[in-house]
Order: sequence, then structure tokens, then C-alpha cells
Amino acid sequence: AEKSVAVLGLGSMGTALAAALLAAGHQVTVWNRTPGKDEGLVGRGARRAGSVAEAVTAGEVVIVCILDYADIGPLLEGQGVGRAALQGRVVVNVTNGSPEEARAMAERVTALGAAYLDGGIMAVPEIIARPEAFVLYSGSREAFEAHRELLDTFARSVYLGEDPGLAPLNDLALLSGMYGMFGGFVHAAALVRSAGGPVAEFTTALLLPWLRAMAGGLPAMAAQIDSGDYAVTGSPLAMQVSHDSIGEVSRAQGVSAELFAPLFALMRRRVADGHGSEGFAGVVELVHPR
Ligand code: NDP
Repeated sequence: AEKSVAVLGLGSMGTALAAALLAAGHQVTVWNRTPGKDEGLVGRGARRAGSVAEAVTAGEVVIVCILDYADIGPLLEGQGVGRAALQGRVVVNVTNGSPEEARAMAERVTALGAAYLDGGIMAVPEIIARPEAFVLYSGSREAFEAHRELLDTFARSVYLGEDPGLAPLNDLALLSGMYGMFGGFVHAAALVRSAGGPVAEFTTALLLPWLRAMAGGLPAMAAQIDSGDYAVTGSPLAMQVSHDSIGEVSRAQGVSAELFAPLFALMRRRVADGHGSEGFAGVVELVHPR
């Protein structure tokens, strides 16, 4: 069903969110601190609000997408806003921040009489409203359920729980996995380049199939982390660290091992601690002792 939505913040992400809402037929009112960023959206049917207060009172759902958490409180408590304007509305804050910031914002917004949802956008603006995008939400379950269809216009919506900090925490966990993969990719590319090979062909023909196969093992490793039982049969850690082949060959090839070395050091420490017959997943006990 068509809803009235306010979008505060028309950077590249806010603009993409507002555009998706307009395309889905919602009534969209937009506000941005610096004027002039809303022309494209207004041309597609958005209403331009002259102030935050005007935007907020025009939307049953208020999407906040600005650069920094610290600026949101003052925005929502500014002139003409506050309790009178926010009472009974739903604030969906998709600004990136920490779990602690999300919890503090939830308290602040709830105190102003609105329900609060925190969102972690797992997409770049270009893929908003495309199938590969998803958004993590945490906070008011009631608000999520009431507006799920609306939120699904941005991307697939994933609700994680009432603790508002869950969306930012899981967002950062996903980015951690991504950066691990990017780091491994860059090291692999450097090795291949050092031998004169084209990285593009290596990546599509070899690395991607290999990573896909290895990713298939993650659920079993996750189960080990949940249970604390790291017994393996195939590739015990002691075997994996018996020789620093990656480090040595890298250095011989003129490739710095600085991306790989910290991980290898942890694997070795785990073996030194007496867990050489166990699997890689046990390394988690070194970065987060149970
Ligand atoms: P942009 O840099 O494109 O836009 C920043 C926006 O924040 C502008 O609308 C700017 O307004 C506004 N803003 C900054 N400071 C203030 C303030 N003090 N008061 C009011 N408005 C302010 O950023 P994005 O749109 O890319 O990002 C917005 C949020 O979305 C960030 O938290 C980001 O982490 C998150 N995000 C972005 C992704 C991306 O790929 N772009 C992916 C996932 C999340 P003005 O025009 O006046 O400067």
C-alpha cells in the first residue's frame, strides 16, 4: 500500500532510497541540509520540504540517511521537530554507526514518542532495489512488521531483533568477512602478478571457483565455533603451519607478506598452545576467548 515517507539526507545513498520509494509509488517528501540536491527527485514527483520539521510531519515513516550519527539527534530535536512532530511516527535510521550509537539513538527517538529501527545497508547506491541488495534492521519489531513492505522497496529486508545494536554489529561483521576476502585476493593477485601472469584470468578461472568451494566449508566451521569442539580429520592446524610456504615464496617473489603474516602468526600461536590437531576455526579462541 502507498505510504507517506520522509527522507532526510540526499547524499548518494539517501537519493537512491528516495528514488526507489518514488518508483514504488509512495508519497515521498525530501529534505537535505544543502539545497539543490533534490531536483532530480522533485522532477520524479517528490515533495520538497523547506525544513526538517516540514519533512517529518509529512511522513509516517522518516528515513534518516546522513553521514554521521552525532548530527542526527540535533536534527530531530531541532526547531519545530522534537516530540510534537515525531510522536507516533517511525524513524528508520540507516546512517552507519556503532551498536552503542544505535542504542543511544533508539533511546533518544523513543523518548520523543517515535518508534525506532536501525538499518545497515548492505549495498552501494547503484544496487538499491536490485535483488543482490539487502538491508539489516534491528529495533522495534512492531515497526518493522508494520512497514516491512515499504522497506522491501530498498532491498530484501532482514530483521535481526529488538536490540537496536544488532544491525550495526552484523553490518560490521559482514564487512569484516568482505575485507578478509579482499585482503586474500590482493595477496593472491600480487603473487600471480609477480610471476608475470594476468590477474584477470587467474581470478575468473581459478580463484573464484576455489573461493566458492572453500566458502562451502564455512557452515561446518561456524558449527565448531558455536560448540567449541574444533576436532577435524582432514587439515589440522599443525599441518597448515608446519612450513611458512606462503610467506617464504611471497618474499622470494618480491611480494610483501604483511597481509598474510598476522593470520599466520595466530595459527602458529594456536598450535603452540597445544591445539595443533584441531582445525582452523579454533583461531577464534585467540581473538575472542570464550
Ligand atoms: P554522502 O557523502 O553522499 O552524503 C552525505 C549526506 O549527509 C548529505 O546529504 C549531507 O548533506 C548529509 N549531512 C552530513 N552532515 C550533515 C549534518 N550535520 N546535518 C545534516 N545533514 C548532513 O553519503 P552517502 O549518502 O553515501 O551515505 C549516507 C549514509 O549511508 C552514511 O552513514 C553511509 O555510511 C551510509 N551508507 C552508504 C553506502 C554507500 O555505498 N554510499 C553504503 C551503505 C551505507 P549536505 O548535502 O548538506 O552535505
